[in-house]
Amino acid sequence: MGLAELKTELSQLDLVDQGPLLQQLSHDQFGFSPSLVPRLQPCCADLVVRATSTEEVVQVAGACARHGVPLTPRGAGTGNYGQAVPLEGGVVLDTSAMQQVRQFDPLSGVLTAEPGCRLLELDRYLQPQGWALRLAPSTWRTASLGGFIAGGSSGVGSVRWGLLRDPGNLLGLEVVTIEPEPRVLQLDAAVARGLNHAYGSNGIFTAITVPAAPWQDWQEVALVAESAAAALALGEQLTTAALEIDGLCFLERRLLERMPALGSSAWPRGDALLLLAAPAALPLIESMASAAGAELCWQRPQWPPRGLLLRELCWNHTTLQLRANAPEFTYQLVLLPDPVGPFMEAIAERWPGWVHWHLERVRQGGRLRWVGLLPFVWRGEAALAELNGALKAAGGLVFNAHAISVEDGGLGVVDADQVAAKRAYDPAGLCNPGKLRGWRSGAVEA
Ligand SMILES: Cc1cc2nc3c(=O)[nH]c(=O)nc-3n(C[C@H](O)[C@H](O)[C@H](O)COP(=O)(O)OP(=O)(O)OC[C@H]3O[C@@H](n4cnc5c(N)ncnc54)[C@H](O)[C@@H]3O)c2cc1C
Repeated sequence: MGLAELKTELSQLDLVDQGPLLQQLSHDQFGFSPSLVPRLQPCCADLVVRATSTEEVVQVAGACARHGVPLTPRGAGTGNYGQAVPLEGGVVLDTSAMQQVRQFDPLSGVLTAEPGCRLLELDRYLQPQGWALRLAPSTWRTASLGGFIAGGSSGVGSVRWGLLRDPGNLLGLEVVTIEPEPRVLQLDAAVARGLNHAYGSNGIFTAITVPAAPWQDWQEVALVAESAAAALALGEQLTTAALEIDGLCFLERRLLERMPALGSSAWPRGDALLLLAAPAALPLIESMASAAGAELCWQRPQWPPRGLLLRELCWNHTTLQLRANAPEFTYQLVLLPDPVGPFMEAIAERWPGWVHWHLERVRQGGRLRWVGLLPFVWRGEAALAELNGALKAAGGLVFNAHAISVEDGGLGVVDADQVAAKRAYDPAGLCNPGKLRGWRSGAVEA
């Protein structure tokens, strides 16, 4: 690879080619997985370029294509699976400084923004106009829009709007191709689908169009029940009722007691539901909770965001909070069958006490389901394989949180749209190499 020539060609841009910052910008949050650490820790870019405009992205993409240098896009670097780690070195293209809102239509709520926009900052922009992002990971304060679309999957809002890849959650992309003379393309929702959650392996986003949702003064609510079964049944009742709920998380008591308190009082003992609910839903939530023997122990408006937020005890922040004092924990991501009772019993019977229960309510394929981010103490690769087998045998769909490729972290199968997009926009296979399993020298693997 012609790295020296490439550096000379890009010398007027903001470059990092040595020191701890080079290492830091080559890594993300893969430390959650003891399986990924030995594989990803040694990986390092030869050069990081911090781009500030589409024109600079075009320069970098063209130079990489001409000199045959791999290119890995990067946002805020909060991904959990090494999505932004350059497996083959080369250039890491950091787009986190591209932070312009290009367009917003306050009538339709359609937003076009550059990839480096932080999600919370976008909500700060939208809120005074009566709008909000539909979906956000629990890394709402830090994650970038580009990184979320390329590397995220779901989050707060998924109980209403489904998963990120569901049609309708991404309306368009501006993409720079990795070719000697890069093209800047405007892709509509149908074509953009092939780049959604493809780990930035088939094109560089320079603008993203998403639909916003009407702003709502979401209230943080915590309910504590006397048993896991009572809490889960209440969670299902609340989300199937005609109540506006933007997030609902179940934490079994062993996890709740390890979570930091939201206010000045410690958590009561019990199994919890953590919700984001519309103010109009609160009276009914309280009466349904009371009928189920659950106690309301926290309520506060989410906006403006101050201090520790309830959403920062949910999604993968549950694992983060747990690992702060117990780093021996890791987790696995699984879509649970419905009903969840027999599944949970089968796993608990096989390994009493090993797997902890943290579930999030999501809409999947139009139906309400529980997705688990299940914490457990790491016992090695063989135990992980056995656990994955048992989760599948009990009817779960495992999205392996200990895998490097798009496919292995997803449904396990090659998505022909993602491979076709790579062939069209990255014909030499330079973009984030090693992440799209379906791409082997341009051939589609079954
Ligand atoms: C504590 C914690 C909680 C989390 N909770 C959630 C959650 O609730 N839901 C969820 O989905 N994820 C979650 N994540 C994972 C991650 O935070 C999110 O997916 C986040 O949106 C990633 O954004 P980022 O800017 O950090 O992207 P990065 O990690 O920098 O990149 C992610 C992917 O996007 C690609 N990319 C970045 N910018 C571009 C670009 N301009 N063009 C093309 N590709 C690009 C990168 O190559 C990489 O493959 C969590 C992570 C942590 C550590």
